[in-house]
Amino acid sequence: MKFSWRVLVLWTLPALVIGFFFWQGAFASAPADMSKNAANTRMTYGRFLEYLNADRVTSVDLYEGGRTAIVEARDQDIENRIQRWRVDLPVNAPELITKLKEKAISFDAHPMRNDGAIWGLLGNLVFPVLLITGLFFLFRRSSNLPGGPGQAMNFGKSKARFQMEAKTGVKFDDVAGIEEAKEELQEVVTFLKQPERFTAVGARIPKGVLLVGPPGTGKTLLAKAIAGEAGVPFFSISGSEFVEMFVGVGASRVRDLFKKAKDNAPCIIFIDEIDAVGRQRGAGIGGGNDEREQTLNQLLTEMDGFEGNTGIIIIAATNRPDVLDSALLRPGRFDRQVTVDPPDIKGRLEILQVHARNKKLDNSVSLDAIARRTPGFTGADLANLLNEAAILTARRRKEAITLREIDDAVDRVVAGMEGTPLVDSKSKRLIAYHEIGHALVGTLLKDHDPVQKVTLIPRGQAQGLTWFTPNEEQGLISRSQLKARITGALGGRAAEEVIFGPAEVTTGAGGDLQQLSGMARQMVTRFGMSNLGPLSLESQQGEVFLGRDWTTRSEYSESIASRIDGQVRAIVEECYENAKKIIRDHRSVTDRLVDLLIEKETIDGEEFRQIVAEYAEVPEKQQYVPQL
Ligand code: ADP
Ligand code: MG
Ligand code: ZN
Repeated sequence: MKFSWRVLVLWTLPALVIGFFFWQGAFASAPADMSKNAANTRMTYGRFLEYLNADRVTSVDLYEGGRTAIVEARDQDIENRIQRWRVDLPVNAPELITKLKEKAISFDAHPMRNDGAIWGLLGNLVFPVLLITGLFFLFRRSSNLPGGPGQAMNFGKSKARFQMEAKTGVKFDDVAGIEEAKEELQEVVTFLKQPERFTAVGARIPKGVLLVGPPGTGKTLLAKAIAGEAGVPFFSISGSEFVEMFVGVGASRVRDLFKKAKDNAPCIIFIDEIDAVGRQRGAGIGGGNDEREQTLNQLLTEMDGFEGNTGIIIIAATNRPDVLDSALLRPGRFDRQVTVDPPDIKGRLEILQVHARNKKLDNSVSLDAIARRTPGFTGADLANLLNEAAILTARRRKEAITLREIDDAVDRVVAGMEGTPLVDSKSKRLIAYHEIGHALVGTLLKDHDPVQKVTLIPRGQAQGLTWFTPNEEQGLISRSQLKARITGALGGRAAEEVIFGPAEVTTGAGGDLQQLSGMARQMVTRFGMSNLGPLSLESQQGEVFLGRDWTTRSEYSESIASRIDGQVRAIVEECYENAKKIIRDHRSVTDRLVDLLIEKETIDGEEFRQIVAEYAEVPEKQQYVPQL
């Protein structure tokens, strides 16, 4: 049933109520059958008595138990013609009957119509009955809707909200770019398909596999692919769905889930976001969360409860393995951990190939170049990127996706929606100087990534943007690269100050400063790149709210703390002086580039470098610059 009963009942109720009142008016209070004798004109009781005394009344019909009478009398005014009148009689007028008898006037009493009374009675009953039925329906329907108030009535019964997919239809071919993870899981498929191969030699089939990796790297997809390859049912539930409003629901859901799974073995149970339940017990401010801990205990018990070879394999996914309870990770539970990392350049190319299968790409588009331009993108980002490009293509009424759509889609995925360009004004000039400052400093530093493009078209929060392309997949970053990045990030503020003076600098550099301060601090405290020596002074810590216990943060004395601050400041100051010097020394090319940027809104990297090369020596640094 597609339509909603609730809406139906809600609308019929008022309609019935209104209808009921009309109906009462029409039937229940209708005078008994007077319509046949209907008299249009009325006569007062006194007048009636006068007529009676004057012997002009010929007949009287009494209605409603003697409260109304239709009187026939000769009308003096119109030549004694017989006329009919309606007369309301006083309640107590027994002498009237006597008088009528005296005068020998024919009179008749008409009984009250009995069915009228019945209808009246029924009418009075119908309304409450309708109301109660209506309310009953309302309540019953709403109790079937998830989250309705009726849920409170049957929380004990715990409807486990996991889904079972008989066949996921996802194959390993649909998962690309995460080869190591795939290889490890290939074995799980064999466990499910041919368990004898392992049990024959006495091997115990693993019960749990924990997929660890950032969001969007394809963990859910991978789990589905295992089920798809093995052709087994796939039960999926999200960790947060275990934990509910009522204590004990989580634990009973876990029981339910495993019971269903046992009935359907061999199968895969997939628990997404397991950190929602599997967090270290007893942690956090003020101790733990009883409900969550009970759920987790139940999960641990269930995992111990079935024999290793029942053919149920539990796959869980998380991006925070550090907060998981250690009992979950011990052998016999999630004893295999598979890391799913964001793809490298080769992986990105493969993922793009998977998702380009069902898209129409122009011949000019090279997936290779897209893969180069998208470091740090996960599988989900890449899928989204191609989809955005396809949407843009459709919007522009093109036949196939071209480079332009891909380019725009990358910008959009990375930096947000495109805004409308500023009109030419002082603040537009200032933003132009800021962006050219970033780009120029970045271009003239040997260790900086090459500029990909500079633009004044606002996107997301940013009024203007300078895009850099990382040269290669950078696993390790050197000290001079870090310093170059800090200097480049300061290029915007440096240009504002050099050109407009210290009084005119703007808040536009806020984001830059935040980023570079973080980098400078990490150079000192984590990477040992200052004169404090090769010491790790701060470890990356989970926040207390996310499930780790409160521990004292600083691992150093007050005096070291102030030396750290001093070192951070020294690094930033040195870089800032350097950035300002670069702008001052290249003032004329800066002005020319700003004029060009304001005129064209966007300058691409190649053109930018050519112009800079007319004025200064551009360091030889890039092996390739992705052409898009
Ligand atoms: P996770 O569970 O790790 O957050 P998902 O598995 O839900 O990520 O991925 C979301 C979508 O992104 C998938 O449906 C798929 O379209 C795409 N995707 C992610 N990773 C990959 C990959 N390695 N290969 C192909 N597609 C991927
Ligand atoms: Mg997922
Ligand atoms: Zn900036």
